[in-house]
Amino acid sequence: MSYATRLDAALNRRQWMGWTAGGLAAALLPRTGRGAITGKKVVVVGAGMAGMTAAKYLRLWGGSGLQVTLVEPETLYTSNIMSNLVLNGSRSVGSLRYARDTLASKYGVQRVTGSVAALNAGARSVTLADGTSLAYDRLVLAPGVSFDEAYGLTQTDYDTRTPHAWRAGAQTTLLRNQLVAMRNGDTFVMSIPKAPYRCPPGPYERACVVADYLKKAKGSNCKVLVLDENPVIQAERHTFEQAFGQIHAGVIRYEAGVSGLRIDAASRQLSYLDAVLAPHTVQAQAVNPIPPHRAQGSAPGGWLARAGLNNSADGRWAVVDVLSYESTALPGSGIHVIGDAASCGLPKAGHVANQEAKICADAIVRLLQNGQPDPQPVANSACYSPITASTASWLTATYQYDPAERKMKPAIAGGKTLVNGVPATAIESATIDGDNFKNMGTWFRTLMSDTLG
Ligand SMILES: Cc1cc2nc3c(=O)[nH]c(=O)nc-3n(C[C@H](O)[C@H](O)[C@H](O)COP(=O)(O)OP(=O)(O)OC[C@H]3O[C@@H](n4cnc5c(N)ncnc54)[C@H](O)[C@@H]3O)c2cc1C
Repeated sequence: MSYATRLDAALNRRQWMGWTAGGLAAALLPRTGRGAITGKKVVVVGAGMAGMTAAKYLRLWGGSGLQVTLVEPETLYTSNIMSNLVLNGSRSVGSLRYARDTLASKYGVQRVTGSVAALNAGARSVTLADGTSLAYDRLVLAPGVSFDEAYGLTQTDYDTRTPHAWRAGAQTTLLRNQLVAMRNGDTFVMSIPKAPYRCPPGPYERACVVADYLKKAKGSNCKVLVLDENPVIQAERHTFEQAFGQIHAGVIRYEAGVSGLRIDAASRQLSYLDAVLAPHTVQAQAVNPIPPHRAQGSAPGGWLARAGLNNSADGRWAVVDVLSYESTALPGSGIHVIGDAASCGLPKAGHVANQEAKICADAIVRLLQNGQPDPQPVANSACYSPITASTASWLTATYQYDPAERKMKPAIAGGKTLVNGVPATAIESATIDGDNFKNMGTWFRTLMSDTLG
């Protein structure tokens, strides 16, 4: 994954905004000239970034003869993107909540409130927790992730004492309240699980936002200790080295290669081994462990696991064919997996989930018309990271299909090769500044509008 690729040359801001918008808009083009689809059913499970986009574009490209049913237990969608800004008080969780009404009223997606509890691949049906059964010709699974009970903590600890807040909602508010209660000289500790995890730059961004808030609101004696189980910073390395070493120097202490983390939720005391296995004990006032995560339903006995779809080597993710996002565990079954639950060589991110959903929707429409998936899919990824309450950095990458390895790969670096008119390289912003912060708002609104508007 190329998130850590450095910026070699400064980039014109207008070019960048054009590429980002282009990356979302390119997929708006109708894909096939084949006949209309009639009498076919697609069920989409999970109405997050991936599932909402897939449902919308299946109807846009598949037409009104394609019945699309979207299954989701939550009434409103709460965006994880931008949720780190709840921690410094510049946004509320309420401002990140989205109704999904347009998917039904404008695009004709049928919505079902409920949770999938079982799959019957042979009969091509899913069973919901209330016993309802839904039949499909094609099934799209976009259930996101669940979080392990790790470091001696339980799900109740995450909900009440040591929030991970890695799914935006009540835990985000709890963490915000814990920060507000801190005093000058207090210590905030956060941990980062081994990759792959959701939003590679997200934890480092959070460290910066929290450090900036504590300095300004509580005083410069506060400390932010970042315990990373990875050997190096996983994304925007250049940006975060600058942020940790200069902008937030003296407040953030970053430790890579940490292991053996144990946390006592009641006392907020924790212990760990550093990169050379030396033991440490820390007394914190707020603890924010981001636990290892996995595809929702992939834990032993879970609905995804019972269907045999968690076929990555570690059993945590659903491996897919990146031309169609069909599961490689059950080829020919008509079951597709997209978003953070999938293992496909792309980073786990909302912008990427939107892209995967479009490639998958396009492939399904083609397959239902007796065609074949696009043999040369291209995806792009964009991400902004707030570094303070008013400045941000950004990162973008383009991915293209490599037929030799049957994988999506970062497009060739160098800036000269074009993939569908997009510069073929991964690029990190040259500066951390207020313009980037403003553009972040535009990017976010555009992404959400493309996903569910
Ligand atoms: C703090 C933070 C900041 C982030 N910032 C960025 C960013 O700047 N840019 C970016 O691109 N990404 C960012 N991300 C990552 C992004 O939020 C995720 O990658 C994205 O939400 C993944 O989309 P998804 O559809 O796979 O999962 P989700 O958006 O989590 O949606 C999954 C949905 O499935 C539903 N579901 C689960 N199980 C079932 C079931 N059994 N039946 C029916 N429905 C079910 C859930 O209720 C949920 O609505 C950030 C994440 C965090 C935590």
